[in-house]
Amino acid sequence: MGGHPLEKFRCLRCVHCCFFRVVEEAPVVFPWEKRLLEELAEREGVELSFDPLEVYADSSARCAVALYRWVIRGFCPFYRIAGSRCTIHELKPLACRMYPLVVNVETGEIAVSTKCDWIERRLTGLKAVDGRVETVLKLFPEEGRAAVEAFILYRELVRALHELGLKRVEGRAACKELLDADDYVARYA
Ligand code: SF4
Ligand code: SF4
Repeated sequence: MGGHPLEKFRCLRCVHCCFFRVVEEAPVVFPWEKRLLEELAEREGVELSFDPLEVYADSSARCAVALYRWVIRGFCPFYRIAGSRCTIHELKPLACRMYPLVVNVETGEIAVSTKCDWIERRLTGLKAVDGRVETVLKLFPEEGRAAVEAFILYRELVRALHELGLKRVEGRAACKELLDADDYVARYA
């Protein structure tokens, strides 16, 4: 049984994962994570903005948002350049906890972000590693667990919405009411 050609991931504390050149790079969060971030932002006196990213609708055009895009341009408001640190480290959302892993929550596929310095320096070695979850968890134990957690939570949330008869819609233009998906489930299940 050979070992992996790479050592375990160790964050180099560069700035790349907390700086977003375009909104599409910014974290995708669950509704309950959005609400927690808003609470934390209020305490710190900063303003946050989110866009509904994945929306489901019932037959009365009541809509439930399963995922939000956190709209960040430039540095995250919780990032402190001096000290290269996240001021909400213990409470940061799963998208931040799994980085530099990125999970496709619909398929469960896990990829690595080439924006990360550690990944960039080891990309050739990483390409030689098989793509099994066990390997990912060996190289990225904490990040891998966060990616798996996000996948499971997403699957459970979407299953609950489907069981209530909601269907995914493009955008929210036709929505009469917009609720967080977990609030929708709690109210109508
Ligand atoms: S919440 Fe923390 S880890 Fe996530 S982007 Fe902001 S500063 Fe970075
Ligand atoms: S980009 Fe990679 S190395 Fe840099 S702070 Fe983020 S996780 Fe750490």
